Amino acid sequence: MPETKALPFSLDRYEAPARELVRRAFVFAAAAHEGQMRGTGDPYISHPTEVARELYAWGLDERVVAAGLLHDVVEDTEISLQQIEEEFGLEIAALVDGVTKLSQLHMPQAEAVSVRLEASNENLRKLLLASIRDIRVLLIKLADRVHNLRTLGGLPEIKRHRIARESLEVYAPLADRLGMGRLKAEIEDRSFRYYLPQDYARVTSLMNRHMKSTERYLIRLRHELSGLMDEGGVEVRRVEARRKHFYSVYKKLAKVDGDIDKLYDLVAVRLIVPNEAACYQALGLVHQRFRPLIYRIKDYIAVPKPNGYRSLHTTVFALDGRITEIQIRTPQMHEEAENGLAAHFFYDAHKATAAYKEGKGTSVRPQGLAWVEQLASLAQLTQNGSEFVEGAKLDLFSDRIFVYSPRGDLYDLPEGATPVDFAFAVHTDIGLRTMGAKVNGRIVTLDYPLENRDVVEILTRREAAPNRDWLGFVRTAAARQRIKAWYRAQSRDANTASGRALLEAELKLVEARRIDDLPERQTKAALEALKLRSWEEVYAALGEGSLSLSQVLRRLFPEPAPQKNPVPAARPASISTGRVLVAGTLLPYSLAACCAPVFPDVLTGYLTRGKGVTVHRNDCRNLPDEPERYLECAWEVSPKASGQMIVLVEIVAENRIGLLRDITNTFAARQLNIHGIASRDIDSESSQIEVSVEVPDLYELSRLIRGIEALPGTRRVRRIASGSA
Ligand code: MN
Repeated sequence: MPETKALPFSLDRYEAPARELVRRAFVFAAAAHEGQMRGTGDPYISHPTEVARELYAWGLDERVVAAGLLHDVVEDTEISLQQIEEEFGLEIAALVDGVTKLSQLHMPQAEAVSVRLEASNENLRKLLLASIRDIRVLLIKLADRVHNLRTLGGLPEIKRHRIARESLEVYAPLADRLGMGRLKAEIEDRSFRYYLPQDYARVTSLMNRHMKSTERYLIRLRHELSGLMDEGGVEVRRVEARRKHFYSVYKKLAKVDGDIDKLYDLVAVRLIVPNEAACYQALGLVHQRFRPLIYRIKDYIAVPKPNGYRSLHTTVFALDGRITEIQIRTPQMHEEAENGLAAHFFYDAHKATAAYKEGKGTSVRPQGLAWVEQLASLAQLTQNGSEFVEGAKLDLFSDRIFVYSPRGDLYDLPEGATPVDFAFAVHTDIGLRTMGAKVNGRIVTLDYPLENRDVVEILTRREAAPNRDWLGFVRTAAARQRIKAWYRAQSRDANTASGRALLEAELKLVEARRIDDLPERQTKAALEALKLRSWEEVYAALGEGSLSLSQVLRRLFPEPAPQKNPVPAARPASISTGRVLVAGTLLPYSLAACCAPVFPDVLTGYLTRGKGVTVHRNDCRNLPDEPERYLECAWEVSPKASGQMIVLVEIVAENRIGLLRDITNTFAARQLNIHGIASRDIDSESSQIEVSVEVPDLYELSRLIRGIEALPGTRRVRRIASGSA
């Protein structure tokens, strides 16, 4: 084996510094892979070299070619990404990183299939995410894959089968999405051969026989067409006849029950003419000479395919009435159809090179690649790796149909897509507001499977109101994820509202209506303790039940002792005001009916659910065993001895609006000091209200009681307990 110290292909297109970079990458990679062999028996360096040759042939810049040379170094040798970055810079390192498999996912061969599948999903996700940032990553991966396919013969059968299948399912559709028609055909045919060997043999022999009988005909037709263009004054750069590739014939055969004579486009004749105008002229000339099948005239120049493909297609009854497809395009259209995205880079080479030189090349996403945008938004919408990859497979890699909006915009969707999928493809907002749909002017149901070339019109309502049932029939992951996201947001709103109501009911007990009414220091500390960022999040967590009310309250009011109040009885010598201080402050409360605490009983407050603080005797058996809801309570003692006496007045009255106001007005009219009011509902019709009030004497107290008795709806007024004067 001769030692390869020089690149086996020329770099004529590059300037000297670019050539130098590529050579340096080659020497580096050759040293790193030194001594490694491929399954085919070749030295390992032959693989990255061929990948680089492919990338150069696609017209890509020197950094991509260098990255192609280095693409397996990190994965398969001791060299780290760090070293690549030091040696070749961030941009090349990022490209290499994009195609490097996740190392922790290098599974032993004995691992279960599901584990390997998960691993390959994660790797694919990594690749696609890297490609969203820089699409050149994908180009390197495709060059890598196609060379692996060319040398697949050296691998064991099982591995061949797996790689072939993955290539058909993922990499050929990706090449197609990049508009790289020739690469897609090669990936498909090479994979087809190993994935379905018997079908491959059948289709190739069928095609070979067919081509033999067609060859003479094609020679005549090319001659005829050249003459035709000549007479019409259209310059023809090239006429070529191309057979369809085997895998696409295989797929088409399935649709015509295997009858190859029913396929009109096994061979297409291509006319390459100088410019767009010549394309249409040529089409006219063809149609003057041969009658076209009207429904097979396709103008992909006026309306390019979403992957950028442009050409005129027509199928005509040609010589001897044989049905034949003719494609007409310019040289640039031809180049783009064959090389797709790579051609785009080629044409933009100067611009791109300038951008790279300014160091702006690390995020490279050519315009007009709508599916890359789709991929990016899918990455945002999905919750995990396999959801993303499954969605990507569904949206990007399944067989596509092309449909039109009423304005003539072309959309591509997976086969079986419905008007709802179309609506979401047009715009999320349209999707969410979809009410009905017309296809080719006819009203259809929303689950109607669209077909190629349908014109789809979406009827919308004013408000977003997607239907959960749509999830049963939508085909695109984009539609599915957006419907789900809408419902998630809806239920989040509902949860937030109910969580907020729950907490605010409790806040009433501290005379606050909203969380903002509490001191900021207190609410901030509670948020921190709950490890949440905002009260919105607290409400949502409360609403969905992942956080309990008592957890929130404990954090919000951490001061109260967590056990029953251990404080001994208040000093009998002190003067009670008859009121209870809850958590050291004047909060509304009610005395528990079960134990009817009186001064100087030791007290414990219990924060009920929605009914405020109930004050029990410390030893009350009915006190629920929920220490997190206990609040420290104590009888208020008068700070100063005065001539006044404090009495507790109990009022039972019918519930009515303004009752409490009337009662407090009665006290105020007599210039009496209210120390506290607690009320509770006895039943739906009446309340018990306890007022502790400072009165100068019993005379004043009896006048007060008569005054309250005179209020409408009062049933009973009495003095129930009192501090000593
Ligand atoms: Mn490789």
